[in-house]
Amino acid sequence: MNENKSEQIKIHFLSLGYLYDEIDYDLVIFNTCCIRDTAEQKIMSHIAVEKQKNKKILISGCLSQKLKNRFEIFNINNLLTKNKFIDITYGCDNHCSYCIVPSVRGHLRIRGEEEILREFVYKIRFNKRIVLLGQNVNEYPDFHKLLQKLCSIDGDFTVNFLSSHPKDFTDDLIRTIAVNKKIEKDLHLPLQSGCDRILELMNRKYTVAHYEMLINKLRRLVPDIHITTDIICGFPTETEEDFNETIAVVKRIKFDACYIFPYSIRSGTRAAAMPQIPFSTRKARATKLINLMRKEKKQLSNN
Ligand code: SF4
Repeated sequence: MNENKSEQIKIHFLSLGYLYDEIDYDLVIFNTCCIRDTAEQKIMSHIAVEKQKNKKILISGCLSQKLKNRFEIFNINNLLTKNKFIDITYGCDNHCSYCIVPSVRGHLRIRGEEEILREFVYKIRFNKRIVLLGQNVNEYPDFHKLLQKLCSIDGDFTVNFLSSHPKDFTDDLIRTIAVNKKIEKDLHLPLQSGCDRILELMNRKYTVAHYEMLINKLRRLVPDIHITTDIICGFPTETEEDFNETIAVVKRIKFDACYIFPYSIRSGTRAAAMPQIPFSTRKARATKLINLMRKEKKQLSNN
């Protein structure tokens, strides 16, 4: 989503007559993400450096919401450009206990179908690939019908969507992916943990069994599907046994790729108030899982 916004902002400024130069510049734009603490710290140090150089600074993205009392606010959103991503929802009401998005991006807002269709028709003139975006695209009412409608438009293009939530992933959607040639067989479905106790603490509202049932159905109906996931290691109170459950699920499912992160404390979230485990343990678990994924990939390529 942030790559999409960055592209929009860049195109907008170029269309206003600004020149893009990474060395000689007067204005620097930070399109920020504060989902992880390390990202926030990194951006803050970059801002400090640019301030010292007396550059004009523009901050967009979720950190700008957090910093709004310290900076002047301009609205550079809602720009219709030629880039290949289309927002279909904004904000989120799911309140996963580790996530800062609902407090910085606001409540779930659904974009009107007519508006999406108009933008879609405009963008397939310039792009062969369109990605529909939302914090949880599966919350778009009858999301599979929206996909069917978009894919029924004439043209040589493919469609993908990000991000999905296992709790809202329907059979209708699986069937739509299976039968529609214009939908890419490339799905990112965040698991986050392979332990039901941790999933409950995360407020994810699905179980490991439900997740595995979705994967089995997807692989049965869409045999060429490529599935990737996100996993958080070292969530508050996660024991070695809990973590081993995650390892077992990852081994069973055999994802095509995993994005693995040590848990990052975000103040203001429910998880931040839970009993924490040391960062070294979180990091060690993430490293262990990354190494496991590398080993499994190697085995796959050796076979
Ligand atoms: S669904 Fe995604 S964006 Fe929404 S609270 Fe959960 S992790 Fe955050």
